[in-house]
Amino acid sequence: MAALTTVPEPRATRETHATALRLEDVEVTYRRGSVEVSAVRGITLDVAPGDFIAIEGPSGSGKSTLLRVMAGLWPPSAGRVLLAGQDLTDRSDSELALIRRREIGFVHQLFNLLPDLSAADNVALPLLLDGLPADQIDRRVEAALAQLGIPDKGPMRPEELSGGEMLRVALARALVIEPTIVLADEPTGSLDRNNSQNVMEIFHEIHAARGTTIVLVTHDQDIAAGAGRRIRLVDGHAVETLPRRTGN
Ligand code: ADP
Repeated sequence: MAALTTVPEPRATRETHATALRLEDVEVTYRRGSVEVSAVRGITLDVAPGDFIAIEGPSGSGKSTLLRVMAGLWPPSAGRVLLAGQDLTDRSDSELALIRRREIGFVHQLFNLLPDLSAADNVALPLLLDGLPADQIDRRVEAALAQLGIPDKGPMRPEELSGGEMLRVALARALVIEPTIVLADEPTGSLDRNNSQNVMEIFHEIHAARGTTIVLVTHDQDIAAGAGRRIRLVDGHAVETLPRRTGN
């Protein structure tokens, strides 16, 4: 009982982990009626704090499935997922929800900003759900918007923002919780090449400024080329085409 009610561990303890995220022999098999699809076939991967990893591969190669597993949104059929040393595999739904809210900054493909809320309220959402006092929330939201270079956009609604600004708000919302890891699902998928480059520049900016651990899924090789590590999925298997270099 006591062990399960203490997730996640205090931040001071978490930061001592050498691995932000570890996948051990992860397999995912989807079942639809009598049909089975092996989407992920035995992937082992260590994500070190400060890594910037691109997961690439053609459509259907298992990228989104792997990201969902990393985020605790989908249970692996076999293997283990460890986030800062905590095993996500046997958690209840409510424990996983808590871990996700506190540890994982998820950036959705279409950003998933709530249209009726201001940019500041979108960023505040995970902190409100966590029951933080209002003055702390205001301070952290203000700091996150400033860090993302949009200190004056707090009152604006998403429809009043450009694509790049919406991404900055989505990233501010991901970063305001000071996550162990940021997971991004094809954040350039809906954008043209120019805007895609801008998106990558924003990710690089954050990575360089904060040393944030980032795993980003993309089907675009040019986008993947900018990451510190590149992992290519082929038919549910992972091949590291650009291993981590020192000084990344
Ligand atoms: P990618 O993100 O690389 O396009 P996915 O992870 O979405 O790949 O899909 C990998 C494989 O798993 C594909 O064959 C896809 O059809 C299948 N798949 C994905 N989600 C489901 C699901 N919910 N039910 C059944 N099959 C699925």
